[in-house]
Amino acid sequence: MNINIYIYGNWKMNLGPPGATAYVRSLSDVPVHDAVKVSIFPPTVSLYAVYKEIESTQNYVSGKISLGAQNCDWRESGAVTGETSVDMVKEFCSEILVGHSERRSLFGESEAIINKKIASNIEKGLRSVLCIGETDFHHIESGEPNRILQEQLSNSLRSIDLNENNCEKLIVAYEPVWAIGTGKSATSEIAEKRCGHIKAQLAIKYGEVVASKIPILYGGSVDEKNASSYLETSSINGLLVGGASLDESKFRSIIEIANDLSSSKNQKEGN
Ligand code: PEP
Repeated sequence: MNINIYIYGNWKMNLGPPGATAYVRSLSDVPVHDAVKVSIFPPTVSLYAVYKEIESTQNYVSGKISLGAQNCDWRESGAVTGETSVDMVKEFCSEILVGHSERRSLFGESEAIINKKIASNIEKGLRSVLCIGETDFHHIESGEPNRILQEQLSNSLRSIDLNENNCEKLIVAYEPVWAIGTGKSATSEIAEKRCGHIKAQLAIKYGEVVASKIPILYGGSVDEKNASSYLETSSINGLLVGGASLDESKFRSIIEIANDLSSSKNQKEGN
């Protein structure tokens, strides 16, 4: 069955190995609909512990819950103090966040670096979750976000050749910076418009068929109360959840919402 809803949880710099293990122990049995995919992005230091905790669970073995890294360097190995290579995590991670606004603002991650990371992830067989979004809410009023998104996409994906064979190696998350961790989530109308614009840009670059296979997520103060408003739209394929993913009962509720909506989407599509 094709995945029609993605629920991704970015733990940011929270939960070391003991806390992370306890969290996934209670989450690992959560029912996940066949057309829903859940992915968890723990801090690097906790990744292996989380993997050991869930590696033999049904959800992990079936691929319904998978693990991702919050950041990896594009270089193979060597004198890069403090970084982690893709090879070091690829045994247990299938995805890597790239271009998160906190990496851009706190570590000066440029679009040239983001571009190298996406290229290296594809080469190593991992999927990039590319995060893009305008910084300022006032950009909305001036009509700027579309131009900003266009520029971020074009720089990040420069010379990245996606086709029907490798397009599953990319997810794009629309994350307006003004909505991240602020409690000021974008309205579903705004999020839908921007995600539609991202899809249209991908279609211009890679063609309609390839673009239709690249999921577009919304992220920015998503919680169990507003999740359905985004998932009910036609251009948003899933959610990247930060703060609320740290609360096991909220994250579970978001997964349950996705399960329900996914079933009704499938019925509509006749699957
Ligand atoms: C994020 O970290 O990507 C995020 C969207 O955070 P929050 O849900 O806390 O706004």
